[in-house]
Amino acid sequence: MLPERCPRVFAEVGRVRSPDSWQRLARTPAAERRRLQAAPLARYVREGLDPSAPHCRRLFDEAGIDPRRVRGIEDLADLPFTTKADLLAAQVDPQRKLDFVLRPEPATLKRHWPFARKLALVLGGRRARELLRFQYTPNFVTFTTGRSSEPVVFTYTPHDLEVLGESAARLFDLCDVADPAERVINLMPFAPHLAFWATTLGGFTTGSMVVPTGGGKVMGTIGNLRLIERMKGTALVGTPGFVYHLLRTGRERGTDLSHVRTVVLGAEKVPPGLKRKMLDALHACGAGEVRIAGTYGFTEARMAWGECPAGPDESPGYHLFPDLGVFEVIDPESGKAVGEGTDGELVYTGISGHGTVVCRYRTGDLVVGGLTWDPCPWCGRTLPRISSELRRVSERHALSLTKIKGTLVDLSHIGTILSEMPGVEEWQVVLSKKNDDPHELDQLEVRIAPAKGAQVAALKKAIWTELQQATEVAPNGVSVHTLPEMLEFLGMETQMKEQRFVDLRPK
Ligand SMILES: [Zn+2]
Repeated sequence: MLPERCPRVFAEVGRVRSPDSWQRLARTPAAERRRLQAAPLARYVREGLDPSAPHCRRLFDEAGIDPRRVRGIEDLADLPFTTKADLLAAQVDPQRKLDFVLRPEPATLKRHWPFARKLALVLGGRRARELLRFQYTPNFVTFTTGRSSEPVVFTYTPHDLEVLGESAARLFDLCDVADPAERVINLMPFAPHLAFWATTLGGFTTGSMVVPTGGGKVMGTIGNLRLIERMKGTALVGTPGFVYHLLRTGRERGTDLSHVRTVVLGAEKVPPGLKRKMLDALHACGAGEVRIAGTYGFTEARMAWGECPAGPDESPGYHLFPDLGVFEVIDPESGKAVGEGTDGELVYTGISGHGTVVCRYRTGDLVVGGLTWDPCPWCGRTLPRISSELRRVSERHALSLTKIKGTLVDLSHIGTILSEMPGVEEWQVVLSKKNDDPHELDQLEVRIAPAKGAQVAALKKAIWTELQQATEVAPNGVSVHTLPEMLEFLGMETQMKEQRFVDLRPK
């Protein structure tokens, strides 16, 4: 990953990767934990965000916050939040498109850099250029998956790729796949998205073998199964929808998956019922004990966090890396921080990145059960954790189901219910307008492929009742299809990501 030609620079820069310090961090005694986060945050604000990120500097000025006085995240309580709209507005404005990119002036570097690096800077020449390039010149990008808006570009410098590699290595360790004997099958689609690259870099950093397949669109489901069988894959990393489809197909074809010991799921929420369905399919394919872990990440953080594998019915929550980024949980209405273990919206401040940086970024994700600093009851690590029960505000859709008012519906909640129902093999939700008339009421149709042996009439009634009770929205219809038809609707092998929710309403 890193160029051979400047090893001295890396020695000077100090490689981010340090397995020993990660192990120490994960077992830090309770009394010391918060301090581990406060010092890097204070330094990052003082030496990075304030002097070198124009958007952040403006926010500090407007809020009247002296960056030298920031000691912890509480000191940023008056700093305005950053939203996706801010990022997009800056990106499309030629004058402001670098507002979120860290670009230090030489004077700032001379003031804050350690002696060895300062010396290189003063002496100039090739070493100084390499040092600056490694730290601050973007050489990679990922994008937000913008369905309704323009994608937002996030840049990485070589330093940031090291941070991504380090965070992914920690995830590998949490999921117990950080071992050269592991053969990790990366089923994430080839895309400029975080999930694929985090998995790939995790392998580079830990030495575990990673086999990228590109998912169903590139090799087809059968192609993936053949490869997993031939490579004797020990771990599968993919989106919940595709991994379940793959395992179900494996069971139908009698594929030998006895070597699979771990499944890591990303890019979407993982309902516990779906973990159980996956385990059933894996056991039918000859697998013994299999650990399944969910992960959570987003483009703006340029990293992901994961559960330790506790069991299909238990979620220990996502283990955070307090030295690389800071999470706050706020009341989405008032914007005020809420206490430990309280529901609220996640707000993120990266404290280790260069390239594109965000400070107090509102994720739009509501976390049920909030954040805790209690040690994990399953693995004993003392890292802070956020509950894995997340509701994505950004995926909420307003439905006009009556003439009078629109109802906000969390579609991911509908998805969880359908994924968990034992009688439902595959599903899709279609939103449309009655009679295709833009002034008419919204229609919500659920399409399903029933599981073998399911009583279709009872299943349709159960779907209607469960959705009505959980979301107060009853579908206008539940249509039944064959599995091949549903896979076609979903684009399981033709789309980058399967089409779970189709919105046919005019914009
Ligand atoms: Zn744990």
